[in-house]
Amino acid sequence: MEIFLVGHEYKYAAEQSMLVLYPNERPVYPDAPSGENAVTLTIRRGGRFASCVCELSVEGVKSRGESRVLLSALTDKVAEDRLLQRAVKNSFFKAAVNGGHPAPDWGSLTGVRPGKLFLSLLREGKSERQAVSHFRREFGVSEERTELVRETTRATLRAQESLKSEDVCLYLGIPFCPTRCAYCSFVSIEASRSLKLLPEYLAAQEREMEAVAKALEQSGRHIAAVYIGGGTPTTLNAEQLDRLCFRTRQLFDLSRNREFTVEAGRPDTVTAEKLCALRDNGVSRVSVNPQTMSDSVLAAIGRRHSVEDIYKAMELVQSVGGFEVNMDLIAGLPGDNAEQLADSVRKLIAFAPENITVHTLALKKGSRLTVEGTALPGGDEVRAMLDAANALLRGDGFAPYYLYRQKFMSGSFENVGWTKPGHENLYNICIMEELCGILSVGAGGSTKLVKEGTVARLMAPKYPREYIDRMDTVCAAKDKIVEFYR
Ligand code: SF4
Repeated sequence: MEIFLVGHEYKYAAEQSMLVLYPNERPVYPDAPSGENAVTLTIRRGGRFASCVCELSVEGVKSRGESRVLLSALTDKVAEDRLLQRAVKNSFFKAAVNGGHPAPDWGSLTGVRPGKLFLSLLREGKSERQAVSHFRREFGVSEERTELVRETTRATLRAQESLKSEDVCLYLGIPFCPTRCAYCSFVSIEASRSLKLLPEYLAAQEREMEAVAKALEQSGRHIAAVYIGGGTPTTLNAEQLDRLCFRTRQLFDLSRNREFTVEAGRPDTVTAEKLCALRDNGVSRVSVNPQTMSDSVLAAIGRRHSVEDIYKAMELVQSVGGFEVNMDLIAGLPGDNAEQLADSVRKLIAFAPENITVHTLALKKGSRLTVEGTALPGGDEVRAMLDAANALLRGDGFAPYYLYRQKFMSGSFENVGWTKPGHENLYNICIMEELCGILSVGAGGSTKLVKEGTVARLMAPKYPREYIDRMDTVCAAKDKIVEFYR
């Protein structure tokens, strides 16, 4: 789509709107219109308002949309950029809908964290009801999606109240998996081809853990939640898992820790021995992630395990005991449909887990699904899947407690964590809503330090080999944690 910006340079806002509304289009910036699909976004200031006018031409249909903001609200550069970019998105959305485009469920919102926007409306002094009506009227968000944001924001506020100012979360990353799923582009290494690297990786990670533990102690910070994720941490054998969890307990002060999660994502990696090692080290929550309860869909995504394996893994989890359980599903997988997804949800509910997370498939650039151009369920089918899942979960007493969106999601929907009352996972809320610092240990780790509205990041090398080789530099960088919290 040809994009023309007049009176501003908000390219990102224009492109995000285009990708959500017309996912098959790619942005181009010619000097003059050529008669192809095009959008002109013009910002003008006059009287009391700054207005953005969108003139859209798609497949020969011309339409127009306008959005304006009070000039008095543009108090500084940050407020100006935020409000004018929103006006760009709103006018684009209005022009598309005026031209006959079905209204997207998330209206003009393109961001990853709709909850952050809802929270900012509350912080501006709006009541919850006014924020709901703002989402519905100003941003055109559907009733169902607005309700999800309202409920997840309540969970965020509860989590925020429960945190002390010195609390942080600890994340340990294990970027190894038994095989690669067809929808994944994550930098994970197939363990079958790299078992040799694992011991070296774990030794390097332990060095980084020591450096982080020291920095936390010097900074007077306390860990409120631990999360070991991946990849698939249960790719490690029982002895390696035991050592990782034991060293975590030994190195860090967990006296104020409230939860300890380990992702046991691939059911075919779960054994009684590994689960006992986790339980004996105080792990309180495991995440077993079937993604679907259909054998044909599992085969289509290259998981190389069966539904039977999921039942066996859950039997082990329940017989070892002592864990809260999360289970993940994905809506929009190849060969799936609303009826089958509903069947998957029912089967997960029958395991009586405390949490169920329903993701929407996000098409990643390097994934096999993208490379091979695999046929996928369309936006309407994905909406039907999510509607069916949400209704079943609500019917069983689950409530949404965190929510985020990603780029290139089927139908541009969302991922939602559902919980039984009182079993919200603090780590998931903290990472999504930036409620406290997240100290990340491992290859590709992104440490996010948060203090009084200030955020700083520390990135670790992405690939395990590079991470191992640069451990001296990685450890030396932990001084920045102490400096930040000083
Ligand atoms: S288990 Fe997760 S990280 Fe591993 S290959 Fe599959 S999607 Fe990627």
